Amino acid sequence: MVDIRRPIPVSEAIGRLMAHVPAPRVETAALADSFGRVLAEPVVARGDVPPFHRAAYDGYAIRSEDTESADERNRASFRVVGRIAAGETRDRELGPGEAVRIMTGAPLPPGADAVVMLEQAVRDADGRSFAVRKAFRAWENVSLRGEDVREGETVVEPGSVIHPGVVALLATFGYAHVRVAKRPVVGVIATGSELVGVDEPLAPGKIRDSNGPMIMAQLARIGIPSRSYGIMRDDPDRCFELVRRALSETDCVITTGGASVGDFDWLPAICERLGAKVLFNKVAMRPGSVTTAAVADGKLLFGLSGNPSACYVGFEIFARPALLRMAGSRKPYPAYARAELAEDYPKANPFTRFVRAVYRHDGHRPVVAPAGFDKSNAVGSLARSNALMALPGGTRGFGKGTEVDVLLPGAEDGEA
Ligand code: AMP
Ligand code: MG
Repeated sequence: MVDIRRPIPVSEAIGRLMAHVPAPRVETAALADSFGRVLAEPVVARGDVPPFHRAAYDGYAIRSEDTESADERNRASFRVVGRIAAGETRDRELGPGEAVRIMTGAPLPPGADAVVMLEQAVRDADGRSFAVRKAFRAWENVSLRGEDVREGETVVEPGSVIHPGVVALLATFGYAHVRVAKRPVVGVIATGSELVGVDEPLAPGKIRDSNGPMIMAQLARIGIPSRSYGIMRDDPDRCFELVRRALSETDCVITTGGASVGDFDWLPAICERLGAKVLFNKVAMRPGSVTTAAVADGKLLFGLSGNPSACYVGFEIFARPALLRMAGSRKPYPAYARAELAEDYPKANPFTRFVRAVYRHDGHRPVVAPAGFDKSNAVGSLARSNALMALPGGTRGFGKGTEVDVLLPGAEDGEA
C-alpha cells in the first residue's frame, strides 16, 4: 500500500516532536563525574564569594584614613605589628599608624580597609616599618566580601551543561554531589538487505553500513550513550521484533533505512503494529524529507532515511534536539551563525534545504560554501563539512555574497 504523505514544514515537525519528549529523569552525580552532564537543579550560592574582605595583593593591610594627607613629600609611616598568611586570621583591631603584613587572599584584620601593595611601600631596612607616598582610597586593593557572588543568588540555571567553569562553582559552594538529568540510552538499528558490517567483505550489490556508526558518533558528540542493535535485513517481521526489543531495552530507538514507501520499506507497518503515534513521516525539507518520528509506549522512535546525508541531517534537525531535551538541556538546538555564501548556489527548491557545508572565517568575515557533491545519498561531502547551511525554500537559487543561516552541530556550546 502506498500512502500519500503530506509534507509538513520543518518548524512544525520540530514543534510536534518537542511536545512529545518525555520529561528528563534525575539522578545524583559526584562532582568528579559531573563534567558534561546537565544540571537538574540550580546552583545556588551557599555563601558570599569572596567569603570575607581579603587582600587582592601581597602587601600591608592598613587603615586608609591614616594616608589621607600623604603625598610624595609628606609620606605616611606605618609600623608593622604582625603578619597574616593565606588561611590565617587575626582578631586584633588595627590601631592608628599600624600595619599588618598580608598575603594575597588573606582576610583583612579588623579596622583595616586598604592594602598597600609591596611595590607601593617604601620599606625601612629592618622591615618593621614603611612609608607610603599617596593617599589610599577605602577598600583599595581589597576584594570585597560578596563582590563576585552573593549568598542565595542562583548562579547557574537548571538545564545548563556542566562545563569546567560550572564545576569550579559547584566546588566553591561545596556541592560534593549534584542533581543531574539522566542520559537517555539510544538503541540504533541499521536496516537494509544490502548492508554489511564494517569488518565484513563486500559482495556484489552490497554496501557497508555507514549510517549505524555515524549515528552512534552523532550521539556521542552530544554526550548521549547508545547501544547498537546491528544490521537487520528487510524482513518486516524480524524488523518489528528487533524494534520492539530495542524499545523495551532502551529509552529511544533510531532506525535508518526503510522509511519511505517502497516495497521493502517496513517502518510504516511497524509503527502501525506497535500502535505508535506517528508525529510526522514527511517533512518539507531536503534532504531527509522521509524522516519519521513516532511515540511508542511513551518512547520516541525515529526512522531516519537510509541515504547517508539525509540520515545525518534528519538526526541533527530532529533527533538531536529531542534527545538533548530528554537529557535535560534547556538549549537543545545547534549553535547558529550567519555567513556569506562564498559561491553561487543556483539549485532552486520549494523545500527548506540543509546543505552540508564548510564554514570558516576568511580573514574579513564568516563565509560558507557547499562541501561538495550535494545529493541525499552523498557520504563524501559529510566528511568534509563542519556545518549545515539552512536555505529557505523558494523558486530561485542563492547568489554569491548572500547572507545565509548556518547551523554548527559540532560547535562546542560553552555557555551555561
Ligand atoms: P532506504 O532509505 O532504505 O530506501 O535507503 C536509501 C539509500 O541509502 C539506499 O541507496 C541504501 O542502500 C542506502 N543506505 C541505506 N541504509 C544505509 C546505511 N546504513 N549505510 C549506508 N547507506 C545506506
Ligand atoms: Mg532500504
